[in-house]
Amino acid sequence: MAKNFDVVVIGAGPGGYIAAIRAAQLGFSVACIDEWKSAKGGPAPGGTCTNVGCIPSKALLQSSEHYEHAGKHFAEHGIKVSGVELDLAQFLARKDKVVQQNNDGILYLFKKNKVSFFHGRGSFAKGSGDGYEIAVGGASPETLVGKHVVVATGSNARALPGAAFDEERILSNDGALRIDGVPKKLGVIGAGVIGLEMGSVWRRLGAEVTVLEALPAFLGAVDEQIAKEAAKVFAKQGLKISLGVKIDAVTTDKKGVTVSYTDNAGAAQTLAVERLIVSIGRVPNTTGLNAEAVGLKLDERGFVAVDESCRTSLPNVWAIGDVVRGPMLAHKAEEEGVAVAERIAGEHGHVDFNTIPWVIYTSPEIAWVGQTEQQLKQAGRAYKAGSFPFAANGRARALGDTTGMVKFVADAATDEILGVHMIGPYVSELISEAVVAMEFRASSEDIARICHAHPSLSEATKEAALAVAKRTLNF
Ligand SMILES: Cc1cc2nc3c(=O)[nH]c(=O)nc-3n(C[C@H](O)[C@H](O)[C@H](O)COP(=O)(O)OP(=O)(O)OC[C@H]3O[C@@H](n4cnc5c(N)ncnc54)[C@H](O)[C@@H]3O)c2cc1C
Repeated sequence: MAKNFDVVVIGAGPGGYIAAIRAAQLGFSVACIDEWKSAKGGPAPGGTCTNVGCIPSKALLQSSEHYEHAGKHFAEHGIKVSGVELDLAQFLARKDKVVQQNNDGILYLFKKNKVSFFHGRGSFAKGSGDGYEIAVGGASPETLVGKHVVVATGSNARALPGAAFDEERILSNDGALRIDGVPKKLGVIGAGVIGLEMGSVWRRLGAEVTVLEALPAFLGAVDEQIAKEAAKVFAKQGLKISLGVKIDAVTTDKKGVTVSYTDNAGAAQTLAVERLIVSIGRVPNTTGLNAEAVGLKLDERGFVAVDESCRTSLPNVWAIGDVVRGPMLAHKAEEEGVAVAERIAGEHGHVDFNTIPWVIYTSPEIAWVGQTEQQLKQAGRAYKAGSFPFAANGRARALGDTTGMVKFVADAATDEILGVHMIGPYVSELISEAVVAMEFRASSEDIARICHAHPSLSEATKEAALAVAKRTLNF
């Protein structure tokens, strides 16, 4: 017999599981369906983010940074270590444990909030009078009926035409997170967030990493001044990045992968590597959803078509996260999940796309919110800019990590903060202050007048705000 719910969520990634919890908090009966399997075949809620994305990549970034510090930087602090060795099996096992802790945490949260979890593939069967019938596949098939359905089925890695992922030689993010031996030479196609993060992990472990990028500009979405600094630092670290390339062919053999490409000067080149990570973007995942059964409309790029409130073409069917337009970020998916649950409850869900922070967890980290200087120039908006280097920040000196800067751009007339751009230590944490400020439509003077703890990296934020009025105190 069908089980009835007020809300059925398909997908338990950061979008889906958060939507389910918020809907349950609002008093709805909620089911959440997810098909991801752990290595043992059990449920592994958390989606791409928890299983093969944000969480495992950050676990490996942390471990690889420790390894690099032990080998290269401890001596500066007067700590002598010898015989530093990599235990790759433990390195990967720790990451797997972190992932499992997060999977288990979500299952606990479902129990705590009385969300019914179903492990298997959810697909639309039909629209019935009371709502939508969803068939759950897997070991224990079920039929659920939801008055409201939230589609949160996420995305998959985009493959290069003619170079399908085999996860042995040609790796998606999934394979890139479980390479079982440090390759001597590693290729990365795509100098975006994922390519740079994964390239950094394996470079720190000793791989010679070459990154090939089709676009002519490095980190085109990042403020140019910050991107320039990043390119300089990554080159110094030994990451080889070629821009403006055209990939002609990718072939594999027993030894590895050969990439034939045309460089930005038009010359034919080849790159021979043991493994190749392809990180050229992600495609929405609607496989198995059986969207046709109910006439759920997809857009021309395969995303579930939604309006600004995440309403789909069908009444009471919503879609959120990577499977819809907008930035493919876990926190954007979460915010949409909360907003949709609140809209179902007749409340005013809200997601402000202008204040979604972006972070690249390389070392140095890169983080930003709002508009870049080049965007403001293009829009013809009059602005003032101010920046402050971590080299002049006491805490950064004490940490031994003085790379980078904080930069503000503010409206020339009103001083409202229009964007904040950072490269440096722990800027993934520092960016929150800028997000809060922009949400409250603060001016750079507001930040400049706030007392920041000393010594702290956050003083660089205050000083960059002071720099907008050309009155830094420590630089
Ligand atoms: C290597 C990597 C690193 C990343 N790092 C970051 C980061 O640091 N910060 C950040 O914000 N973002 C990061 N992202 C992006 C982030 O992972 C995604 O934006 C986020 O996971 C999207 O959440 P979602 O809920 O929309 O979808 P997903 O997380 O993809 O979850 C979708 C879930 O739905 C399930 N599913 C799909 N179809 C069905 C079906 N028919 N029935 C049942 N279940 C189904 C899937 O199995 C999956 O569990 C990273 C991504 C990658 C690949």
